[in-house]
Amino acid sequence: MSSQPENQSSAASTALPIHIQGLTKRYGNLYALDSVDLEVRSGEFLTLLGPSGSGKTTLLMAIAGFNRPDAGSIRFGDTEVITTPPHKRNVGMVFQSYALFPHMSVAENIAFPLKLRGVSAAEIAERVETALATVQLDGLGDRGIEQLSGGQRQRVALARAFVFRPRILLMDEPLSALDKKLREQMQIELKHLHEQLGVTTVYVTHDQREALTMSDRIVVINEGKLAQIDTPHAIYNHPANAFVADFIGESTMLPLTRDSAGKLFFADHLVESGPETEPGSEWSLVIRPERLFVIKDGAEVDPDQAIAFTGEIRDFVFQGETAFALMSLSDGHVLSFRFGTDSLSQNSLRPGDRITLGLKRHDLIIIPRGRAQ
Ligand code: ADP
Ligand code: MG
Repeated sequence: MSSQPENQSSAASTALPIHIQGLTKRYGNLYALDSVDLEVRSGEFLTLLGPSGSGKTTLLMAIAGFNRPDAGSIRFGDTEVITTPPHKRNVGMVFQSYALFPHMSVAENIAFPLKLRGVSAAEIAERVETALATVQLDGLGDRGIEQLSGGQRQRVALARAFVFRPRILLMDEPLSALDKKLREQMQIELKHLHEQLGVTTVYVTHDQREALTMSDRIVVINEGKLAQIDTPHAIYNHPANAFVADFIGESTMLPLTRDSAGKLFFADHLVESGPETEPGSEWSLVIRPERLFVIKDGAEVDPDQAIAFTGEIRDFVFQGETAFALMSLSDGHVLSFRFGTDSLSQNSLRPGDRITLGLKRHDLIIIPRGRAQ
């Protein structure tokens, strides 16, 4: 170990990368983490996204040191920490339940990690002031915790997590207890705070929109295995498999067939002709509902530019800023289709209408056929 984390409390924080290799955690026969490899880059905002029970908390707690993996390695920079106890890992943590000390004031809560580290009273006062200002709670240091709203409590928890300048910040569903409006506001605030602090951050959520909003990169996790790691844009536009395509955003998946020349088709539409997809394996076409567009009666579609699907509207639902429709194709497949509304056209589609929808070729997503089918 290059230096003792406890002695760094007055040094400026430097972000650290996290290197995770072969991390496995079993509970009886269940693999909560199954040989996970993950590189968290220095200073990035990385989100672990997955359904309930997928292993997000187990992975975060392993990084924090609150559980002991059965196998694998976790390094902070060059330092192996797998056997280092949590209080010596020097990471900041924020949980869904704020875990504040109810009998202490706001300022005392934030000062707590500094007292533990033996920081002088004068410096504590100064750092608590700065932390309060950073989370926009200036002047509320003397308040009791029970006098605060949920959003304010979470800001205190956040301030307490970064006031000692940890090089790694871990957050487990910190906004889940807040209502939607406040949650969305806090997502943007947290993102700005991260930019300001520059600390390597691993954030856990089961909310895909939250992950897309906040992250530099997203790790999609399912049953203790990593399904994909990429930027929000790439995760959404180029899902690697059926699980990711189904879990993130809305999608229709259509099975593709292959002709004797190896070309992929949906019905009589040529979807792909290149060698990118290996012969012998099965593939699906993923369609994002908002990428479909209405082709007006009689309008020509250049097959090099777009694919056209004709069918019958089955359902139409107005949902405010967008509307949602289901269209049945003649072979029985159903496409979901989402489009922007305006005050004139909101009733323009009715069940039974026959329409043609286009999909641009650059919006075609082809994935290996998987169990989310
Ligand atoms: P997530 O945070 O993604 O909801 P967790 O990491 O909490 O998921 O849990 C992953 C899996 O491990 C789940 O199947 C969960 O039931 C199981 N698990 C977690 N903690 C324990 C424990 N202490 N004992 C037994 N099983 C556990
Ligand atoms: Mg969890």
